[in-house]
Amino acid sequence: MTVHALYIGGRFVEATSSRTLDVIDPATQEVIARVPDASEADVSAAVAAARRAFDAGPWREVTAQERGRILFRLAEAVRRRAAELADLETRNCGKPIVEAEFDIADVATCFEYYGGLATKVHGDVIPVPDNAMSLALREPAGVAGQIIPWNYPLLMAAWKLAPAICAGCTMVIKPAEQTPLTLLALAREFEAAGLPPGVVNVVTGLGQPAGAAIVSHPEVDLVAFTGSAETGRTVLRTAADGIKKVSLELGGKSPNIFFADADFEAAVDGALFGVFVNQGEVCSAGSRVLVERSVYPRLLEAMVEKARRITLGPGLDRRVKMGPLVSREQFDRVRGYQELGKREAKLAVGGGRATGAGLDAGLFVEPTIFYDVDHGARIAREEIFGPVACVMPFDDE
Ligand code: ADP
Repeated sequence: MTVHALYIGGRFVEATSSRTLDVIDPATQEVIARVPDASEADVSAAVAAARRAFDAGPWREVTAQERGRILFRLAEAVRRRAAELADLETRNCGKPIVEAEFDIADVATCFEYYGGLATKVHGDVIPVPDNAMSLALREPAGVAGQIIPWNYPLLMAAWKLAPAICAGCTMVIKPAEQTPLTLLALAREFEAAGLPPGVVNVVTGLGQPAGAAIVSHPEVDLVAFTGSAETGRTVLRTAADGIKKVSLELGGKSPNIFFADADFEAAVDGALFGVFVNQGEVCSAGSRVLVERSVYPRLLEAMVEKARRITLGPGLDRRVKMGPLVSREQFDRVRGYQELGKREAKLAVGGGRATGAGLDAGLFVEPTIFYDVDHGARIAREEIFGPVACVMPFDDE
């Protein structure tokens, strides 16, 4: 069993915390690795390394051109190890391997995008009257605290790492406790890519204490968080005490709207993809499907027909179109909404745990479609973050 270490100051180091967290494969619920549940002291060590690298290290002298090259090298490393990273992503978070491959390709593209941007961050000269000159200069914010969710583990990490490296910040990044493995794998590439020690520090652990310690640490200048709206509120409140810059990417309950004159087949496929891709564990999942009444019965029926044929199973099987949910906690949450939906609306398909060969040991739920859902129903208003669609008719624009 691999027991991982933290990555601080350019080295893998033992945590001072003796607590560890089990990392599971949600397709089997087997423990596949252990990671440290970092303590406040571990976070402080990581922040100190990031602080030193920003204030005193060579990083401030590294040119934009070189930061760009570092990002391109990271992209190359990701492409070189794409198959291994995709495999690890699928094992850890459950998603179908084809989707994981897509994500990993996106990770490389993200590093390349910011590699190109590094040399194009311009300032401004603002015309002002009298004997004055006004300049806007873009400077790195300092130490960035970055908190990552579990639905697109490495991609969400890249979305935070790449812009911060591009800007010349240093950072402490915490993957979600459920899905730390691909980021730890990427950390093995940081030194070879040319990142000086302390520029990127990886701390694994729970939201409490590790995540909260990053957000509240007085030496962290900026907090970038992606996760649930509820945790986002806590992050924003805590960051206010230190008057930190904050970016939040939170949940949603997105509508997809289908008019009668839409391309019918494209509408059906679009509605299903919108709500079922990545098992519905997406902040922008099209979880409310609004359909013009004249095509409502036909579109609903076509969605149900195709939903029945979605192949569930362990994501590493290439035939699989939908994998397990990420964790027992998420499974229970989604199961709860499936049961609630049966009381609040009409069930068209699914509605339970998915069982059968290859499924019983894992955290699989059936792709589920409710219809005639009232706009006031909880399933129509609350983020489910699972493969549960609410289909409802509308009469006019
Ligand atoms: P979920 O409930 O779906 O797991 P969260 O928003 O709680 O989503 O988790 C997203 C990320 O936020 C994870 O990395 C988690 O560890 C972290 N997190 C959770 N609670 C806190 C907190 N109080 N402060 C900072 N980070 C947190």
